[in-house]
Amino acid sequence: MTSLGPVLIVRTLLKFPSLKPAIGAPSLIVLFGAMFLLALAANVSVLLAAPLSISPPESWTIRHHQLTVTVTPATHRLAAEDLVHFERVGNESAALRVMLNSHLTVTAIRFGTQALPFSVQPVLSVHDSAHKSDAMTTVTKSGSDPHQIVVHLPDPLRLQKSLTLIFAYHGTIYDPPRPPSGLRYVRSAHTTGHIGPEGVYLSGDTVWYPDITGSLATYSIEVTVPFGWNVVTQGTRLREEAREAVRSQWITRLPSEALTLSGNRFVRQARQWHDMEISTYLLPENRHLANLYLDAAIQYLTFYIDLLGPYPFTKFAVVENFFPSGIGVPSFTLLGSGVIRRGYIQPYALGHEIVHSWIGNAVFNDLSRGNWVEGLTTYLANYYYDERHAASDQARKHRRRMMIEYSLYAPPSEDYPLTQFRHKEHPRDNAIGYHKAAMVFHMLRRELGEAPFFASLRRLVKERIGTYASWETLQHIFEQTAQRPLGWFFEQWITRPGAPQLRIERVYLDHTSQEGTFLRFVVAQTSPTYRLQIPFRVTLESGDTLHLSTELFSTSAYQVGLPLPASPIRLVLDPDFDVLHRIEREHMPPMLNLWVTDSHKAIVLPKHWPRAEQEALEPLLQRLRQHSPDLPQRTRLELTRNESLLVLGNPRYHDRERLFLSGCRNRLTITPEEIQIDGRHFASSETAILVSCPHPRQPGHVISWFYGVSPAAAAKVARLLFFYGWESYFVFQNGRVVARDWFDPPSSVTEVQWNAPSAHSPILSPTPRE
Ligand SMILES: [Zn+2]
Repeated sequence: MTSLGPVLIVRTLLKFPSLKPAIGAPSLIVLFGAMFLLALAANVSVLLAAPLSISPPESWTIRHHQLTVTVTPATHRLAAEDLVHFERVGNESAALRVMLNSHLTVTAIRFGTQALPFSVQPVLSVHDSAHKSDAMTTVTKSGSDPHQIVVHLPDPLRLQKSLTLIFAYHGTIYDPPRPPSGLRYVRSAHTTGHIGPEGVYLSGDTVWYPDITGSLATYSIEVTVPFGWNVVTQGTRLREEAREAVRSQWITRLPSEALTLSGNRFVRQARQWHDMEISTYLLPENRHLANLYLDAAIQYLTFYIDLLGPYPFTKFAVVENFFPSGIGVPSFTLLGSGVIRRGYIQPYALGHEIVHSWIGNAVFNDLSRGNWVEGLTTYLANYYYDERHAASDQARKHRRRMMIEYSLYAPPSEDYPLTQFRHKEHPRDNAIGYHKAAMVFHMLRRELGEAPFFASLRRLVKERIGTYASWETLQHIFEQTAQRPLGWFFEQWITRPGAPQLRIERVYLDHTSQEGTFLRFVVAQTSPTYRLQIPFRVTLESGDTLHLSTELFSTSAYQVGLPLPASPIRLVLDPDFDVLHRIEREHMPPMLNLWVTDSHKAIVLPKHWPRAEQEALEPLLQRLRQHSPDLPQRTRLELTRNESLLVLGNPRYHDRERLFLSGCRNRLTITPEEIQIDGRHFASSETAILVSCPHPRQPGHVISWFYGVSPAAAAKVARLLFFYGWESYFVFQNGRVVARDWFDPPSSVTEVQWNAPSAHSPILSPTPRE
């Protein structure tokens, strides 16, 4: 992953909080404001919502909806008739219950021409659907919850195995999107569904048609909107005609959890590609971006069809949304205008949504046993696309980043097993449900080999399309394809929380051996132990490099004995970050996120600095004051305190910069006018830098420094500074990143360096790297 760009993006299967059964969770990409909030949120406890009560099993499920809907944005109104095909899945019952938005009034329910009696009841129990997202434990808006329509079935009907009823209803859907309270950074704008002049958004959360929790249904729908408007929904558009009003007809062939519909004054642009249609529905001012999205969509589809098998739908559309969002539903994605304008076509963005076409929107997530969909989608889109298309070093960096993110945001005291991950509420959930899970798929791929791994994924899609799948389903499919048991793998990585901690111990180097140089060392892991096979790399004095691996072991100590043709100068365990393990803070490369996540931290501001300099940093200071009012503020450097520091302001207003950055040793030199990093010079008035060095005296803490050569250069970055948390330095020119990289960690327990290999010193202990 080369850049997270100017916005930080988090993907989640997120349900809006509401006291109702969750129906048809779309996958949401949530855009949020400032990354430093991640740390500041550390004190906010978030519930992985537990079911409050469990409803009795349903007697009926829905197999098909035939909807005729008129939507009037000016009055927020919807009038509809839904011909619903039910199938009995439980015991016979005189009552058939469906959910419907409580702002919609049912005027009639008919069996053919026969009107059936019905009653309306409030939903008394909040339950967590076995298959759909969690019910939440907070209510944010009254009145948007569904009510229950109870149809009283006469004798002959209650005995039937299937039943088709017509529901006529109308009402208003008015829930204008609003910023969520609390954790802004993990939530998108918030609505359960809205019809208004600014746009139409109806989803499973809206419950805008009669529904039964757990139903997987197909849909055919005819929608009428005023002239000048048009809609897009799932499936194939059969026809559209525009007279006084615009009427369109759509049909889905594959069952899905819910039907999402979006309406606006779209400009539709489409291309026929093989037997499918690739289209964009953009607002007029963004219509010029259509080709960008069409080209990118085709590029991803080509790649993922090759990887995962036939695309499950007849179309893919990129649809502009009137509120900030990144919603992936079967056959289209809904992106807010802001991201549309930014060209949101990266693998972690558009690529991710396209992978959801197979994973999540064609094979569904059985959330009762944990969410596997986000981890696999993250692996295939955010990671694997780059592995295949970018330099190999990028893939290695990406794995390292995922491992560090997991270690930093899911410390042992807050960790939980993947079977408990549902969706993202907190950076910890992102670290576990997305990054740890993606690494688990990486390890599974290494364990099985390329061909069985990808064959299993194709088999998963082929065999489970239109149905739910869980981690157990995945285990079963991988075992069948690979023809061997994988219970141990899934037990240690999915059912158990955590990850192993690794270290090199008892290094012994014997130059007197008859075989030349003999290296012995122990690979140690903490308890509970994992079954692991760990690659390691030995660099020799001769310049040669040996790429080796332990055997599979599950003991706390595994001894390696190795004859070498020359003296070693470096030994590194898991040099390419292929085996997920926990990395301690003091063994991480320095970066701003070490400051962000530190429970002991302060900022250092100059005692006297000119107004222009101060004003340049004001947006940053404001955010810090707002989100962390108790953050200690220092005016001079004090290295004796046990804390991480964020230094702000040009070095001409600080007097001890050598001390500040001494943890970076000789990698960089800064002066008020010039920055030198690894031999590169940056010295224009447009230059700004964010650099982090290990705290020279307090292991595990960091000193980060941000300044501009000119106030204007700093001002261009200040507002977004916390988006640059994941590397050791970023050099900006005119607000754009022109150089970035990690520095080495200050110490390591998975690496040994021999500084002065010599026949006279046969025994060396692992030394912290200098
Ligand atoms: Zn996703």
